[in-house]
Amino acid sequence: MERLQKVIAHAGIASRRKAEELITAGRVKVNGEVVTTLGVQVSAKDQVEVDEVPIYQEEPVYYLFYKPRGVISAVSDDKGRKVVTDYFSDVTQRIYPVGRLDYDTSGLLILTNDGAFAQRLTHPKHEVNKVYVAKVKGIADQKKLYPLTKGLRYQKVQYAPARYEIISTDVKKQTSVVQLTIHEGKNHQVKNMLEAVMLPVQKLKREKYGDLTLDGLKPGEFRELTKKEVKQLL
Ligand code: URA
Repeated sequence: MERLQKVIAHAGIASRRKAEELITAGRVKVNGEVVTTLGVQVSAKDQVEVDEVPIYQEEPVYYLFYKPRGVISAVSDDKGRKVVTDYFSDVTQRIYPVGRLDYDTSGLLILTNDGAFAQRLTHPKHEVNKVYVAKVKGIADQKKLYPLTKGLRYQKVQYAPARYEIISTDVKKQTSVVQLTIHEGKNHQVKNMLEAVMLPVQKLKREKYGDLTLDGLKPGEFRELTKKEVKQLL
């Protein structure tokens, strides 16, 4: 089930805001009845019409993508930069990323056209472990990283406890590689958590999302998720 305004927006008819206006203006019908209240939930089986024209609700599709660095996690960019959906030009469904990776972060990103699925995965209560590998400036040691395991507050944002592993340290270059496992998805979370313990991130990659890995994929490549993988994520 998904909110009516979202279904209209995802069908590419209007922005979410405009979709709300269409509804309140009485231009939207669900199963033949005009609906003017916002927040009505509809499923793929419901017939939605805007100005008497039926909306075609697509078959849900799910992709696992290896996002390269230097790509925006969005479907369009007003500055003309490369966006993740540029890699999916042969996919006809209107897919979009589930959550975001920063422009300069690489790694595992899920794309779908299933709004309810995307919403569930990004809901704060939905705790999927995400594993990141960060190259940081400075020497990472237990003392520095320990606060991350307790959760910390940084720049007015509270971060839940994380697990870490020190992968390597380059004393000459004064850098380390750290693996961090978190289950939240706050803005710039890994960068902020590591900055909070004086280990600013130079390079970041998301290697795992739940049980999903990037195995078999190169940057810029994707594959469909199996039905079982989709189910396991929910
Ligand atoms: N944390 C970050 O700081 N950036 C990302 O892209 C993902 C998690």
